Amino acid sequence: MTLIPGDGVGPEVADATCRVIDALDTGITWESHDAGVPAIEAHGTPMPEHTIDAIKATGVALKGPVTTPVGKGFRSVNVALRQELDLYASVRPCRIYPGTPTRWDGVDIVVVRENTEDLYEGIEFEMGSDELNKLRGYLKYMHGFAIPSDAGVSVKPISVTATTDIVDFAFDYARTYGRRKVTLGHKANIMKFSDGVWLQTGEALADHYRQIDFEAIQVDELAMWLAWYPGELDVIVLPNLYGDIISDLCAGLIGGLGMAPGMNIGKQYAVFEPTHGSAPDIAGQGVVNPVAMILSAMLMLRHLGRDDSAARLERGVARVLAEGRVRTGDLRPTGKPATTAEMADAIIEALDVG
Ligand code: NAD
Repeated sequence: MTLIPGDGVGPEVADATCRVIDALDTGITWESHDAGVPAIEAHGTPMPEHTIDAIKATGVALKGPVTTPVGKGFRSVNVALRQELDLYASVRPCRIYPGTPTRWDGVDIVVVRENTEDLYEGIEFEMGSDELNKLRGYLKYMHGFAIPSDAGVSVKPISVTATTDIVDFAFDYARTYGRRKVTLGHKANIMKFSDGVWLQTGEALADHYRQIDFEAIQVDELAMWLAWYPGELDVIVLPNLYGDIISDLCAGLIGGLGMAPGMNIGKQYAVFEPTHGSAPDIAGQGVVNPVAMILSAMLMLRHLGRDDSAARLERGVARVLAEGRVRTGDLRPTGKPATTAEMADAIIEALDVG
């Protein structure tokens, strides 16, 4: 199996996760490939060809987080990887495991995020650049739009094709996993020609899945409902940017980023990774919560058809959380916070309880 530990806390959560998966005796062996800061140092690029080739060869990869410097420098490795492998669906199940300290009970939401276009497409014009000045001139001349000379511009394309793929995916997911409702979030009242395409395409497709309830609501109202009655939401399908924000909001509902697993699915390839980033503030200290990465590996096992191992792993994680004896600092332990390694050890021990 291709393993990409990433950088920051990535190698720490990857190591903990591999130990837990190895304890399951699935026969999975790991082939590690670099990405992010270590790859820049070794190969001069954050996502070397050999890493992409390895994912293409195995079809499936388990990946840790990778740092993206803000503003300048290299483009997000994660965005580039999703586009290169056409990983069009990001799926982030957000479920409260009993015993996890949270403000809510009974949250079991799956955020399905379109992963390839929207403001993440990378069509960007730098403030003051010749390209942007030409674009400003064109928009003024053709349409009377006046973009200030001290503005930067990002373009938001949303296509019928990508919307159809992701909304179909969300309904298929709901059907496969016995979910009752799909909620589509949008802002079509403001962005009539991008979110408008998203909303109209989604509403038309919903007609084909009458056995599953459907609702379309504005994303700001969705945020309000999530903060108020999160138990009312089930599967939520969103364009790229709203999906990014709302999935972190949902991670907050279930105990924080350390609890939120994720997967990026395409028609050919699948990459499993936690929702959280490289957490530079705690990297190298051995204190990061490995559960998000371990649950991402659980999703990978399920994807590979290893349902028994996936269920055993999830039971092990649930048991450790329910007992509450071993908890990393983010899970507000009553006593001394556990280290990453101690959390992994506790989960390994819990695997054998049955
Ligand atoms: P982050 O998720 O790395 O951290 C946000 C906060 O949550 C930090 O205080 C961190 O310590 C805490 N946190 C995150 N995961 C945790 C865990 N497992 N256990 C305990 N605490 C945890 O978000 P950020 O600081 O905005 O991003 C840091 C870097 O990661 C950026 O360069 C960003 O672009 C990148 N990033 C990468 C991915 C990815 O590789 N898929 C995803 C998100 C962010």
